[in-house]
Amino acid sequence: MATLQLKQITKSFGDTDVIKGVDLEVNDREFVVFVGPSGCGKSTLMRMIAGLESATSGDIVIDGERMNEVGPADRGLAMVFQSYALYPHMTVEDNMGFSMRLAGVPKEARREKVLEAAKILQLEPLLDRKPKALSGGQRQRVAIGRAIVRNPSIFLFDEPLSNLDAALRVQMRIELARLHEELDATMIYVTHDQIEAMTMADKIVVLHDGVVEQVGSPMELYHHPCNRFVAGFIGSPK
Ligand code: ADP
Ligand code: MG
Repeated sequence: MATLQLKQITKSFGDTDVIKGVDLEVNDREFVVFVGPSGCGKSTLMRMIAGLESATSGDIVIDGERMNEVGPADRGLAMVFQSYALYPHMTVEDNMGFSMRLAGVPKEARREKVLEAAKILQLEPLLDRKPKALSGGQRQRVAIGRAIVRNPSIFLFDEPLSNLDAALRVQMRIELARLHEELDATMIYVTHDQIEAMTMADKIVVLHDGVVEQVGSPMELYHHPCNRFVAGFIGSPK
C-alpha cells in the first residue's frame, strides 16, 4: 500500500483553479520530487498534504487513513520550508527541541533526541550557538534537524535549498540523499530546478498549471517524455 495517496485533489482560491485534479501515489521510503515552473501549484499541493491548507475537493490518504479533517500536527509528517525561520534568541539545541517542548517531552528525552539528530546532521559542535552565529548551510541543517526530531513517517521539503549558493546546494543535495538512506524515510521534495529533480529523485512528478503532466523515474522522463512540456522542462532531446 502506498504511504501517501492523493485522489482527485483540487484547490481553488476564489474563482481561480490552482490544482485541477491531482492523482498520485507515493510509496514507502520513496524520494519523490515535485518539479514544475514557478506558480504551477507545487507549494499549494505540499501545504494540502501537510494539512496547512484544505483541499477544495478530493482525498488525502496517509497509511490508509483519510486525512482531510486531521490537523497538521497529527499527520505524522514534518515540513521544511524555503524560509526556515529559526528562533533567533534560542540556541540550536533549543530550536531543535522546541516542538518536543511544546508536546511536553521531558528535558532529558528531548536532549537525547536532539543529540541523535545533531549527530546525523553534524551539528554536535554547534548546539550551544544562536542562529546568527551559523552559516546558511548550518541553519538549513538546524531546520532539517527540527523535522527529524519529530520522527515523521513523511518529510516534506519545499525548495529548502533555494536560499543557498550553488556550491552549498550541491553539498546539501548529497547530504539529503544520505539522510534519506540513513533515516529510511519517505521524502517529498519540491523544486523548480530540473537538475535537482534529476539527481535526487526515485520518482519525479512534473506539474504544470495545476495538473500532473507525467510521473516517472528520471530516466523514464528523460528518454520517454509524454509531451513537449515535459521534454522541454526535463531537457531531453525529443
Ligand atoms: P509554486 O509553489 O509552484 O510556485 P504556488 O502553489 O505557490 O506555486 O501557487 C500556485 C498558484 O496559486 C499561483 O498562481 C499563486 O498565485 C496562487 N496562490 C497560491 N496561494 C494563494 C492564496 N492563498 N490565494 C490566492 N492565490 C494563491
Ligand atoms: Mg512554491
